[in-house]
Amino acid sequence: MSASYEKFESETKDAEGTDKGSRLKGDELGSNLDFSPSLLAFDAHNPPDPTLIDACVHCGFCLSTCPSYRVLGKEMDSPRGRIYLMDGVNEGQIPLSTATTQHFDSCLGCLACVTTCPSGVRYDKLIESTRSQVERNQTRSLPETLLRRLIFSTFPYPDRLRLMLRPLGLYQKTGLQRLVRSLGFLKSLSPQLAAMESMLPPISAQAFQDLLPEVIPAQGKQRYRVGLLLGCVQRLFNPEVNDATVRVLTANGCEVIVPPTQGCCGALTHHQGQEDQTKTLARQLIDSFAGTNLDAIIINASGCGHTLKEYGSILQDDPEYRERAKDFAAKVKDVQEFLADVGLTAHLSPLQDEPLTLVYQDACHMLHGQKISVQPRQLLKQIPGVRLREPVDAALCCGSAGVYNILQPEVAAELGRQKVENLLQTGASLIASANIGCFVQISRHLQLQGKTVPVLHPMQLLDYSIRGIQLTASPSEAIAVSSNRT
Ligand code: SF4
Ligand code: SF4
Repeated sequence: MSASYEKFESETKDAEGTDKGSRLKGDELGSNLDFSPSLLAFDAHNPPDPTLIDACVHCGFCLSTCPSYRVLGKEMDSPRGRIYLMDGVNEGQIPLSTATTQHFDSCLGCLACVTTCPSGVRYDKLIESTRSQVERNQTRSLPETLLRRLIFSTFPYPDRLRLMLRPLGLYQKTGLQRLVRSLGFLKSLSPQLAAMESMLPPISAQAFQDLLPEVIPAQGKQRYRVGLLLGCVQRLFNPEVNDATVRVLTANGCEVIVPPTQGCCGALTHHQGQEDQTKTLARQLIDSFAGTNLDAIIINASGCGHTLKEYGSILQDDPEYRERAKDFAAKVKDVQEFLADVGLTAHLSPLQDEPLTLVYQDACHMLHGQKISVQPRQLLKQIPGVRLREPVDAALCCGSAGVYNILQPEVAAELGRQKVENLLQTGASLIASANIGCFVQISRHLQLQGKTVPVLHPMQLLDYSIRGIQLTASPSEAIAVSSNRT
């Protein structure tokens, strides 16, 4: 018996040592335990690489930084436990079943373990292969299948999402939303649907169309020509961030190109193992930027930025797009990374007469995925009067993780609660967050805790500073000013 299997067995025994799962009592582990040979191993297309698995020396350093382990407290919901499972499935000793899949599903993909691991284990590559295997080979329950189909057929397509805006707007404005929330039946019907509903931001008029022109000239002397990715969810539900990003870039000497045919970058589908859909979205995005002759391709959302930088690997088996994907990825820069690199040239004014205490929230795919942590802080500290605070557990995921907070609402809620508490404990009067997913998650949990601390993207703060807009009576008023501007 391999170490993997022993580990799996001990995890699935109850306190008395009775075998709760493993070979014979599959029903208690999950309804789909099937030991037919086809499910006793991953399929031949890109299984988790055994050499990457063997790099793990089982030291357990990663456990304390793993958010799913912190909440669920089980070895199999930790990086080390999941690597055991991958090894076991690879070796044909553990089935790819509902029981094993639930431990892969509980992973947030936050990559904190990659940062922590002293042996350099590429858990990011391992979970990427595993998720695709799960999606191809594992049958999910009907409600879960339907929910995932709904997400993957709408979220990455701004035009399809826009068709839903009007009914969603009516749902909010007629008071139906208030009624549904007060009755609370959605949660008992489907905690996932309830989680999705609870995160629905107010629908603004700006959500219905992309207003940014295709070419926006630099102010003053042009230093760079850059492209801007609008994001699929962000352009609808937080378009002020894209507006602010354009103003900051142009004020700092950048001509900004916004290709009108651009769609989703594929980050959302990539993180959930939807391999074919991700490749299609990546090819379409590369095509939409073809011939633009840019110095850099700028993104202001961390999850998207991380995936865009992976395009070379995502399309490595595509002879037609392989080189184009590498060239594209080489130009991708997070907007903060880019601005810290080229330097701000625009004059910055204080955001209020008093010093402004703010806390920057590290998004996982920025911190662990792209190793960007210094640059956002450097930029924010250049705003006169800004005092930066650091929260406890700054590197721990907020629970957003793409659509994790919809698919795994309980774990996500606990992480959201902890993150907001840690941010508030700094005493900051404003939270800076550079990722749309974190923005939604943190805003939601602030609301649940009855707090009104505003959450703004660093580009919004720089934009106000450049334009001399002060956060007058309270910073939340500045959000209203920003939202109402066209
Ligand atoms: S820290 Fe690295 S080597 Fe140690 S258990 Fe975790 S993944 Fe394995
Ligand atoms: S990616 Fe995050 S949630 Fe998943 S195993 Fe690593 S630390 Fe844990």
